[in-house]
Amino acid sequence: MRDDFSEATKKELAAMVGYKCSNPCCRRTTIGPKLSGEGTINLGEAAHIKAASPGGKRYDPDMTPEERAGYENGIWMCRTHAALIDRDEKYFTVELLYKWKQKAEESAGKELIEGEGTIRKCKFRMNIFYRDLKEYISAMELFKMRRGVVINTQMLPIQNNWEEHLEEISELIGPELTATLYNINRIVEEFRLTMEEEARRLKGGPKLDYISVIYCQKQDFFMDKMQEWLTKDLLETIKFYTEI
Ligand SMILES: [Zn+2]
Repeated sequence: MRDDFSEATKKELAAMVGYKCSNPCCRRTTIGPKLSGEGTINLGEAAHIKAASPGGKRYDPDMTPEERAGYENGIWMCRTHAALIDRDEKYFTVELLYKWKQKAEESAGKELIEGEGTIRKCKFRMNIFYRDLKEYISAMELFKMRRGVVINTQMLPIQNNWEEHLEEISELIGPELTATLYNINRIVEEFRLTMEEEARRLKGGPKLDYISVIYCQKQDFFMDKMQEWLTKDLLETIKFYTEI
């Protein structure tokens, strides 16, 4: 038994956000004319914030069927992102989806008056994070192959003012993802600092080959943490944010 939305509720959910995906990094239009010119095609979905049936994501047994099928419990999404929010309730929490819904309604109202001038800050930032994270993964592969390999800071890029950028979008991506990205960037920054200090210290000094030994100790910690935080799931989630 699924507590599905009525056609009227679906229409209202779509109209309230201008028929655009409520993911703040997406905002893709979900309705338009069919290429044949006959009728319209809808690529959007009214998704449940709290699942329509037991076993679904964010299911709340204390809700009545009416509440579950009500406007308050729905969020309009493009197909890709409707699927996204149903794969992970750790990152896509009830609180985050309520926030997205509220923001999407606000944006739709604003766009109605101002046109579409809103810069897609979130998408832009997530694109940079995604690129950096992929570089980190390559660097880690190198570490794994040759323990103690001497690497340089260029292999671990980090965006300028990342902390500021992360703060700007944290409300949109939720606390879990913000914390993970924060931790990753922080440890990369720390490890880069270690490398720089070592390079400075050894410059002109005795050319002993213990750079690798020193890195090793820091590297173990760095690798442990990176493997814990920089998971395939995380990378996939970030990638979803960058896709339109
Ligand atoms: Zn979307």
